[in-house]
Amino acid sequence: MAEQLIISVSGLRGIVGENLTPAIAAEYGCAFGTFLKDSVNPCKSVPKFGSPGKTERLSVCIGRDSRPSGQMLKAATAAGLCAVGIDVVDLGLVTAPGVSIMVTERHCAGGVVITASHNPIQYNGIKLLLGNGIAPPVEQAERIRRYFSQKSFALVDSTKCGQVTANEQTDARHIAKVLAIIDKKTIAAEKFKVALDSVNGAGARVTKKLLAELGCEVSAINDEPTGIFAHPPEPTAENINTLCEEVKRNGADIGFAQDPDADRLAIVDENGTYIGEEYTLALAAKCIFSKKKGRAATNLSTSRMIEDIAQEAGCQVIRIAVGEANVAAAMLQHNCIIGGEGNGGVIDLRVSPVRDSLVGMAFVLQLMAETGKTISHLVSEIGGYYMIKDKFAVEPGKVEQILNAVKNAFADAKVNTDDGCRFDFADGWVHLRASNTEPVMRLIVEAKDQPTAQRYIIQTKALIH
Ligand code: MG
Repeated sequence: MAEQLIISVSGLRGIVGENLTPAIAAEYGCAFGTFLKDSVNPCKSVPKFGSPGKTERLSVCIGRDSRPSGQMLKAATAAGLCAVGIDVVDLGLVTAPGVSIMVTERHCAGGVVITASHNPIQYNGIKLLLGNGIAPPVEQAERIRRYFSQKSFALVDSTKCGQVTANEQTDARHIAKVLAIIDKKTIAAEKFKVALDSVNGAGARVTKKLLAELGCEVSAINDEPTGIFAHPPEPTAENINTLCEEVKRNGADIGFAQDPDADRLAIVDENGTYIGEEYTLALAAKCIFSKKKGRAATNLSTSRMIEDIAQEAGCQVIRIAVGEANVAAAMLQHNCIIGGEGNGGVIDLRVSPVRDSLVGMAFVLQLMAETGKTISHLVSEIGGYYMIKDKFAVEPGKVEQILNAVKNAFADAKVNTDDGCRFDFADGWVHLRASNTEPVMRLIVEAKDQPTAQRYIIQTKALIH
């Protein structure tokens, strides 16, 4: 059976040629454009075809990762936007954070990234951003979904169609914003040797330029933006062996692995050992908190390492429901100086409200330069936990029942119910939540050692069954 098109808060995702076609992309463009027009002037109803529409012209930035289907879907989505009278700024092949930066710099009403992030090549997706550069919150995402499913499109007549202009400033603006928040001189003085794996995605071009600005000697692999991924594109331990080898072969100080839209960053230490994506945010937070006291925001599934680092620095951590938009909103609300998620996504609002592998790299290199310590040394100082991530199929009606059963059994834990349930114990934590995109529940457990983590997994699973 063909897989269904997935529509979630982060946009739409599907298999190209099966359920994700140019026709679908054009309709999604029409839906997003109509939503933006109505949001700017919500009192005015959707104008009928040919009727006098609003005079204010809105624009949307659109960019894509390197997938071979990207150009086709970008053109189709842009056509849909133009059909409802939205002007389109075509950024070409850029990273996801790059699109967010340009949305706010160009004062656009929204942004579109054609990407399926870390999903395999047969997938592509249409990720949406609002005018603040952040993915829409749940209620607004639901409104966009309704415009799409009901095909309620505010089509305009021939004279009012949107126009497409090209803009190639994204890399330059992105690099300038990252350089503005770090100490370039201190990093450059170290002349770090960096191995980079951009999985033939959108990250290589801009990242190589940034690392050159930081005085690094870069050995890049998989740096052709062909979209033909050299390995499964999620930057997890099993997928980046070649980068680990490259670090050793080259005697590099550090290895960086990006996903295709370059919002996630995984790190390999100077011995060629993959240290896990959870350390990316932890190291970035350590760098930020070494200069300034403040707050961090992260989701409930992210490692406790960030609390340890914050506590040592006299800082505070805000925990929030899973999802980049939730983290960004919490950062704005609580005036956080750093944020992100345990999947290697670091956010600094001075650059953009989107997870950004370039920001992550810059902070980690700065921490290495300022402390004079190797990456393995910094990791051993932070210490670590043992994390297990699991998922299991569940009927949608059973979620509450399962959560209640686990809540009753873990009555002595500190409970957070913002997103499923997170149970905090002295020696670890358990997070159980329904997925936003699949009919599954996710179970994440972290403890000081493997046997304890395993014990929590067995205990929780027994309760579920
Ligand atoms: Mg991604």
